[in-house]
Amino acid sequence: MVHDVVIVGSGPAGYTAAIYAARAQLKPIVLAGSVTAGGALMNTTEVENFPGFPEGLMGPDLMARMQEQAERFGTDVRFEDVIKLELDGDIKRVTTDDNVYEAKTVILSTGSEYRKLGLKDEDRLSGHGVSYCATCDGFFFRDQDIIVVGGGDSAMEEATFLTTFARSVTIVHRRDEFRASPFMVKKAENNPKIRFEFNAVVKELRGEDSLTGVVLEDTVTGEERVLDATGMFVAIGQIPRTELVKDQIALEDSGYVAVDHPSTRTNIPGVFACGDVADTTYQQAITAAASGCRAALDAQHFLEQAE
Ligand code: NAP
Repeated sequence: MVHDVVIVGSGPAGYTAAIYAARAQLKPIVLAGSVTAGGALMNTTEVENFPGFPEGLMGPDLMARMQEQAERFGTDVRFEDVIKLELDGDIKRVTTDDNVYEAKTVILSTGSEYRKLGLKDEDRLSGHGVSYCATCDGFFFRDQDIIVVGGGDSAMEEATFLTTFARSVTIVHRRDEFRASPFMVKKAENNPKIRFEFNAVVKELRGEDSLTGVVLEDTVTGEERVLDATGMFVAIGQIPRTELVKDQIALEDSGYVAVDHPSTRTNIPGVFACGDVADTTYQQAITAAASGCRAALDAQHFLEQAE
């Protein structure tokens, strides 16, 4: 059977594409992934800026609602991991660990993953004090002194959330000005458990079996000193998840999937990209959802033209 639309990824972009494609009678399949289903919002706490929810709601609740809405119109959501994509030609092949799907169009909404600092002992101490997800691991750091690296909204959000557990949270940022929105910065500044280290980078990690501290380097003076900490949360942004397509599709220099703005068309006919994997700038739940809508409409238009 050749499907009209296969959607790879199940964040706000993938599910919104599914809602629109299903309502257009295209019977979309969403390949949601087994571990990463729901995307980055599954690891978020309160989402306060998604329109229509004035009281805010938890990230996983928002994703459950999107899935339910997509399924209500006939989307087939499958919790399978895509391992291969063959995008050339009129019929595309999408291989998961369980099945091979053939489709006239493919919508890529694979999102992004955590950027690492690239330190020597980072992988060794990952899960032993080093983490990339406060909502996943924060609980393990009750009454401890921890640091959060980064100066964006993620760093502010993670630091604020971590004060629920930690004794102190020190935000380490490489400049003296935050990238984060003023509202998020204010919230962190008003929290008595949060301290700030500006113009500082983590140069080295200390600890044998688990993290005991970090070596900080002052980016202005070059001075180094040890900051004791049993936890380090890295919140320095994301990198697009393009591993399945990077050898067959055009990418931006930054590594994101290149699309023909304002459409979601990639350089391969019948293949569309939406959400964080194709967004170098905004990376919000609402902008991902909006681009998912555009991808579904682009796919619908493509199918109509091909008839
Ligand atoms: P981001 O905005 O790209 O910020 C990354 C931060 O990490 C920057 O401050 C950057 O420093 C720093 N950084 C990058 N590489 C580094 C390195 N190698 N070493 C040390 N520091 C490094 O990423 P984000 O905070 O994950 O946010 C991504 C997007 O999601 C943004 O659009 C953000 O608004 C959105 N977001 C929104 C919310 C919300 O609204 N509730 C929550 C989380 C995220 P420089 O500033 O010096 O470049």
